[in-house]
Amino acid sequence: MIAKQEKEFEQERRLMVQKQLIPRGITDKRVLEAFTKVPRHKFVPGRCIEEAYGDYPVSIGEGQTISQPYMVALMTQCLEVKENDKVLEIGTGSGYQAAILAELADKVYTTERISGLSKNAQGVLQELGYTNIKLKVRDGSLGWEEFAPYDGIIVTCAAPSAPEPLKKQLKENGRLVIPIGGSFSQTLSVVKKRKGGFSEEDICGCVFVPLIGKYGCKQ
Ligand code: SAH
Repeated sequence: MIAKQEKEFEQERRLMVQKQLIPRGITDKRVLEAFTKVPRHKFVPGRCIEEAYGDYPVSIGEGQTISQPYMVALMTQCLEVKENDKVLEIGTGSGYQAAILAELADKVYTTERISGLSKNAQGVLQELGYTNIKLKVRDGSLGWEEFAPYDGIIVTCAAPSAPEPLKKQLKENGRLVIPIGGSFSQTLSVVKKRKGGFSEEDICGCVFVPLIGKYGCKQ
């Protein structure tokens, strides 16, 4: 099969933004720009490249998935990332969400428990020239103390409740975007830290792979 030209992928990316994101309420200009720019097809396995811009999740191996573009966009919009922000992602997976965050924030830290996935992601992110992303293989339910506190934390796998270490590692006015619930369905929630306390807002129903770790689901 002749490889598709980058121009065709660029066109698919524009259509993805126009048909999947804007009509469903993704309105943040910076978020839309990031989705127009980041080459999602570089983050899916070669055999799935034709599905890279489809309106659904794609398998990335090891039983894990890269979320549907709309879900990545919704979570990113909920994180309200600003230019000078430092953000933490739990669940690097393919590295796609990390690349989107790197377009919006000053520094991105991302953790993954499966070393093969982290290594792959690192390769792609390096090839694309991202220099503001740090990756680490570790149980992300513990957060990443070394660089805390963060303006925003995004968890791309599902937890039974918001892990305490993540709440602790948020800055004042910081935001934690996380799917909370059982194994088969969850609620996308935004937890905000304000005056030492926390508020929680439910956004919508969702389905994610589990956060496996000390403050997540037991294996
Ligand atoms: N954000 C990813 C999607 C990741 S799917 C992307 O853009 O492609 C969720 C990922 O969370 C999986 O790769 C899974 O291995 C990882 N994960 C699950 N539990 C984890 C934990 N405790 N710490 C870090 N990563 C975890």
